[in-house]
Amino acid sequence: MKKFYVATAIPYVNAKPHIGNAMDYMLADVLARYHRQQGADVFFEVGTDEHGTKIATKAKEAGLEPKVYTDQMVEVFYDFIKKMNVNYTHFIRTTDPTHEKIAQFIWTQLKDYIYKSTYEGWYCVGCEAFVTSKEATTNNGVCPLHNKPYEKLSEENYYFRLSAFAEPIKQALQAGELTIVPKFREAEILQLIKEGLEDISISRPKKSLSWGIQVPGDDAQVMYVWFEALMNYVTVLGYPDGADYQKFWPADVQVVGKDILRFHAAIWPAMLIALNAPLPRTLLVHGFVNVGGTKMSKSVGNVVDPIEIVNSYGVDGFRYYFLRHIPTVDDGDFTWEKFETAYNNELANELGNLVQRVASMVSRYQEGVIGDVPRPKHDTGPFHEYMHELQFDRALDYIWMKIRELNVYLEEVKPWAIAKAGDNDHLQEVLAYSITTLRQMADLLWPFLPQTSEAIKSIFGSEIMSQYKGVLFPKIYHYTSAPDAQPAQPKPEVTEHATG
Ligand SMILES: [Zn+2]
Repeated sequence: MKKFYVATAIPYVNAKPHIGNAMDYMLADVLARYHRQQGADVFFEVGTDEHGTKIATKAKEAGLEPKVYTDQMVEVFYDFIKKMNVNYTHFIRTTDPTHEKIAQFIWTQLKDYIYKSTYEGWYCVGCEAFVTSKEATTNNGVCPLHNKPYEKLSEENYYFRLSAFAEPIKQALQAGELTIVPKFREAEILQLIKEGLEDISISRPKKSLSWGIQVPGDDAQVMYVWFEALMNYVTVLGYPDGADYQKFWPADVQVVGKDILRFHAAIWPAMLIALNAPLPRTLLVHGFVNVGGTKMSKSVGNVVDPIEIVNSYGVDGFRYYFLRHIPTVDDGDFTWEKFETAYNNELANELGNLVQRVASMVSRYQEGVIGDVPRPKHDTGPFHEYMHELQFDRALDYIWMKIRELNVYLEEVKPWAIAKAGDNDHLQEVLAYSITTLRQMADLLWPFLPQTSEAIKSIFGSEIMSQYKGVLFPKIYHYTSAPDAQPAQPKPEVTEHATG
């Protein structure tokens, strides 16, 4: 049996999950479901990053011990992922004792590349990242992501000899041992490597930060949160002896946002090369979701809460927009109007009405008997190509092309006219073709819109049609006008929620 391992980046638990996290989860879920359909044994990891200054500070503000705080926050993530209908197999927390134990083991395995030195420089707590002097100068001492001045650090730390790995990483990329999708991101990393990789600090003195994993053999230091967090992709597998590690590593795809690509395309491969372990095969890098062309930010007050969308339009409405209308590997744009237009036109009209129409003809003309319909005959080659190229937006375009074709076909052949003329053989043929197409599209849709796919299959899946209770994608007009209706009623202002 073929194996498939997909992992998402693990977010900090200092704030509730945002759209970027939802993108991670959904992209990975599409892959996991798709490969399950292809018969692979799938390992699908998600998780939470729970150490570091950011978490320690938040816990303190809440008057809680860090672990008590993260125990509470992790529940929010469980709920969120469930709400997205994301079907992972393993959830790792970096406070799991196994993760901590294996992280310490990995540290000892990396000993040859670790040395002690003094760090004099800048740090962004928001990023939990050491900032090079070059970066600090370029950004005038203020983190562009967090809009906060960098903190000056002067402390004794352990360092990882990242500089030694520039050449091996470059070779791995050029040999296709590690592929970064899209290619322009790979080019960015190659450029970064060309400029040279500096050694990185990988620990913090306990006197400045105690909330972390103990450095083996040094009571005064804890590991830098990023360094141990990256290890989650193998600690979850029970590195190095676990059966899951033997079976599933290397990861087939790791899904990351563009803001954390450097960690995953430089530090993580360097660690693996130092461990003599294979590199993940592919990093799938997605972009940011803007709102009406503006970057989403708390200070602007334009943060969109994924939960609110799901509550208003259903989980498949949510998944559809973000998987099709946000480019898989680049920045995309959200507005409530755009969202609602896509929902009403494409989901409610083009798909929902189509299903309804075919179902009502089958019950009117054939008393609900589907009978024996021919095997699907659409060439799905292009769809599978898009899936393998990780172009999910294009894969959905393909499905929609077929849905539109079926709508046009029905308009042209006019089954109601055929029924009137009493040509039953022809009518049966037309309906059989419609059903077989819908069945096939329902299969292709499953990785993207699982509930919708299952609903279509439950209606047309057997020889006797079953009535679907309810409507697929009832029309909703909060932000746009119904074709023949009253002026749009704008919804009340969206409440703002924290994001990381
Ligand atoms: Zn920052």
